[in-house]
This record gives sequence, C-alpha cells and structure tokens, in this order.
Amino acid sequence: MALNRQLVSVSNLMKTLFNCVWLLIIGLNYTNGSTVWANQPDARVVVLGVAQDAGYPQAGCFEEHCMPGWQDKTKRITPTSLALIDHVTKTRFLFEATPQLPEQLYRLEKYAGAEQYSLNGVFLTHAHIGHYSGLMFFGHEAMGAKNVPVFVMPRMKQFLQQNGPWSQLVNYRNISLQDLANNKTVNREAFQITPFLVPHRDEFSETVGYRIQGPEKSLVFIPDINKWQQWEESLVDLVKSVDYAFLDAAFYADGELPGRDMSVIPHPFVSESMAILDELPKSQKTKVWFIHMNHTNPLLHKNSREYKHVQQKGYNIAFEGLELKL
Ligand SMILES: [Zn+2]
Ligand SMILES: [Zn+2]
Ligand SMILES: [Zn+2]
Repeated sequence: MALNRQLVSVSNLMKTLFNCVWLLIIGLNYTNGSTVWANQPDARVVVLGVAQDAGYPQAGCFEEHCMPGWQDKTKRITPTSLALIDHVTKTRFLFEATPQLPEQLYRLEKYAGAEQYSLNGVFLTHAHIGHYSGLMFFGHEAMGAKNVPVFVMPRMKQFLQQNGPWSQLVNYRNISLQDLANNKTVNREAFQITPFLVPHRDEFSETVGYRIQGPEKSLVFIPDINKWQQWEESLVDLVKSVDYAFLDAAFYADGELPGRDMSVIPHPFVSESMAILDELPKSQKTKVWFIHMNHTNPLLHKNSREYKHVQQKGYNIAFEGLELKL
C-alpha cells in the first residue's frame, strides 16, 4: 500500500511536472509565434514584373524611349507578374508565367529568403504571350518540373491540352492543370483566390482577373481588360472593396502610339482610369497600383512628367521588387 501511495504521489509529481513543461512549451511557442508575426509580414505579395507582355525595351523598337533599355541592362523591365509568399504555411504562388520566368523565379527565391520551399502553383489570367508562354521553362528542355499545379479557366485548359508545345507539358506531367471557375474561390493555405471574367481580346482563352484575400489584407489583379465601360462592375466600387488594386495601365493616354488610331485600342488609358477614380478621397486612390505598362508608356520611367503627375494625384505605379503585406 505504502509503495502504491508512493507511486501515486510520484506519478502526481510527474503529472505536475509534465503539465508545467507542457505549459512552458505552449508559452514558448506562443511567444515565438507572436515574435515572428510582429517582426515580418508573413503573408505578402511581391511584384516580379510590371511591363506589358513584350517587356521593356520591346523587340525591334529602337525609338528614343526604348534606347535606354538597350544601352543599359539594369533599365530593362520584365512583363507583369506577381508572387504570393507566406512564411507560416511555407507557400509560394506565382501569378502569370511570363517569357522572363527564369529571372523572375530567381528573384522570387531571393524574396522568399532562406526558406527553400517549392512553388505551390501558378495562376494564369489568359493566353497572350506575356501571361503564359513562360510555362515552357517547366518543360523537358528546361527544368523538367514534376506536376507543378497550374490553375486555369476552362478555355485556357483546353488551349494548353490541345496545342503543342504546351500539350507536351501536360503529357509529360511537368505541369498539372487545376480547374478554376468564374467567381469560385480556391482556398490554398493562407490565401483565398477568386478568378473573375473580364472583357478582353479572347482569341485562344477567356481572360480573368483575380481577387486575393490574405490573412489581413486583400488585393485585386487585373493586368488586361477592355475599357472600364465594357465591364459590368464599377471600378470605383472595386477599388473601395480591396486594400490594393493592381490595374491595367498598358497605355498612358491617347496619342501615345504615333500614327496609330488609338480609338481602336481597347485598354483603358491611365488618364481614363484616373478620371473615373477622381471622385474618390486620397485614402482610396492610394490603393491603386498601375501595372502592365507598354514599352511606350512614360510610367515606366520614374523621371517622366506623367509619372510625377500620377503620383501627385495620389495613385501609385507598381515597380519590380515592391512588397506589400497581405
Ligand atoms: Zn498583357
Ligand atoms: Zn519602344
Ligand atoms: Zn492580353
């Protein structure tokens, strides 16, 4: 009996000790977790490229505006691409697979820091060269990747499955196509990602924009769209509904392409987008990040009159390396 009582008391002591250690562990974890959370944004969006599909300078363009890009490699700008990074769930997602994917993947590696977790997926908007052709680097002649999840709408999926060289990526399982549907949210780790159809030149695929909800902040990404009037959604309401709005800024204003009738160019000019958003207070305008600039667009150059004008009006111009908390 005595031995039993002793055993009981030893076991009680062990239990108490165990509970203390357990509480200590929880406490340390909690402290550790909150320290990490306080010191760096765990979930963020990183801008990897801001130019229109063809990048800056553009192939075959030796006009005055493109010459600085040819003469100085550091002035080159890659096509529009965003990445989502989350350190808590150790995830990375890429938005768009541009022709400059090799360089953009390298930069993503640097932004993600020491964490060597792999790419969790690529989300595509549409089948124009600047937005998907970088998929080729996942293929047999390059990375020989294994089952990289590529999130696509139905027509985009068919296009990749039925046309070479993209069909080879599917057949060799370098990429694994994941179905998206209009306005249907995909939950992936720290992010909720919702594609929505937008009007655009849809020869090979439909075109979508994305709404992304992070743990704390939200963003909308519309790299390509026709004039805002051709869309049923209100641009003003859209900007009000998110924390960051990355908007198609292919062309700054009418007259940008000398000798071309710009009335047939369907993109909203930056000047037109600003006119629509003019009614908003500065606190709302500052959510806007213009992106997807054509090689002719003066917003590619920080020292241009137009760049300063857009900033003075309270808007932002996206740049490579920009990081925002999500
Ligand atoms: Zn584009
Ligand atoms: Zn040019
Ligand atoms: Zn396009």
